[in-house]
Amino acid sequence: METVLVTGGAGFIGSHLCERLISMGYNIINLDCFNDFYKPTLKMKNIDSLLLSNHYKLVKGDIRDHLILEHIFSTFHIEKIVHLAALAGVRKSIGDPLEYIDVDISGTVNLLEFAAKYHVNKFVFASSSSVYGNSRHIPFKENDPLDLQISPYATAKRCGELYCATYNRLYGIPIVILRFFTVYGPRQRPEMAINLFTRCIDKGIKLPLYGDGTTQRDYTYIDDIVDGIVSAIGYECSYEAFNLGSSNPISLKDMLELIEVKLNKRAITSYLPDQLGEVKTTYADINKSKNQLGYCPKVSFDSGIERFIDWYLKNKEIYDI
Ligand code: NAD
Repeated sequence: METVLVTGGAGFIGSHLCERLISMGYNIINLDCFNDFYKPTLKMKNIDSLLLSNHYKLVKGDIRDHLILEHIFSTFHIEKIVHLAALAGVRKSIGDPLEYIDVDISGTVNLLEFAAKYHVNKFVFASSSSVYGNSRHIPFKENDPLDLQISPYATAKRCGELYCATYNRLYGIPIVILRFFTVYGPRQRPEMAINLFTRCIDKGIKLPLYGDGTTQRDYTYIDDIVDGIVSAIGYECSYEAFNLGSSNPISLKDMLELIEVKLNKRAITSYLPDQLGEVKTTYADINKSKNQLGYCPKVSFDSGIERFIDWYLKNKEIYDI
């Protein structure tokens, strides 16, 4: 079976993806630097069970490190790359835009160089709904104008897409761009709203609500995202971009109320002004993904939140707060 290099494979999405790929018979090399964007111990926990597999190898290192990449590519026959490693999150990118350029753009270009040198037969790039910015074309379609980003994170992701397109034209690397729409589920990054709100409500901590609660997100359950990535890995093309969303935007207020109902606890909220860099709405048009990738999200928001909360209640001791 083929060997896939997954970057950022100890993170939220990466750890779920690696589990699925191993169960399908792939060999996995996970390159992850365990940065302190959130607690590295949580990332180690994400990959606990994977470390037991003979088809899984963890390499602790940075995607910007040429020596590590040379070592990986000269030691293993890497056929495919799923590039998930990044500094994620809009808010932090406003405070540290240069670090986002370094990791999310330079790191991606570094990896594309190795993809070209070692002739990988597929490069899947994790992009984001944030590349659409506050577009007025709703729902967002893959071929909408893409010059409206409102955060350094979104711009870095758009640059990553453009570099992917350039390397596809230069060297013919087959590339699939996946624009993920707010992913949630077990092991979600701790600073993301669903995880943060659940912990605050459960522990009776005041939670910060930015804006008036009417912002909307097209929340997408992790298993559906993994289905989409697996389809992209097998998708024959030169270069294509796809939305992976639910096509069902939910308001912040409704998301909060559902968590309250499922936890059977009330939130203590403090309303704060709109957050810089956060868009008003995300809403994926998924017709292209359905038609070409066979992508079909299956988990409703109600059931996804229930699954997340079940997982949280069994695992909450992993969080300090
Ligand atoms: P995550 O932070 O849980 O995972 C990212 C992983 O990458 C981490 O384990 C981190 O240690 C690793 N990493 C970061 N910089 C690295 C570097 N320089 N070298 C090696 N490893 C490095 O984030 P996630 O939520 O799983 O997101 C995965 C990808 O999907 C990211 O590219 C993110 O931008 C993208 N994305 C996520 C969402 C979402 O809702 N979670 C939405 C849109 C796009």
